[in-house]
Amino acid sequence: MSSSAKRKARQRREKVAMLRRAQRKRCGSCGRRLAPVGARCSAANRPTLDHVVSRAAGGANALGNLLVMHHRCNHAKADRSPNGCELLMLAAANARLGL
Ligand SMILES: [Zn+2]
Repeated sequence: MSSSAKRKARQRREKVAMLRRAQRKRCGSCGRRLAPVGARCSAANRPTLDHVVSRAAGGANALGNLLVMHHRCNHAKADRSPNGCELLMLAAANARLGL
């Protein structure tokens, strides 16, 4: 892996860690618990980063537009607009992050 790819991977891990804390370790879509870091879990439960306003709709790749979600929740959401639960979780996470 190149040093640039390593740096991007580290930045991504740091974003996920910050958001997990800000979301109280709960999925940004369904609100259920996220698997602990490093824990073995099914592919469907694997934590992933979601762009609340999708990149396709012009959403930023910044903390203020990101939530950690289960892979299955992220896949189900796809490019649709965020629902009320997702917007509430984003507002709470952003407030805890001071954004
Ligand atoms: Zn979920």
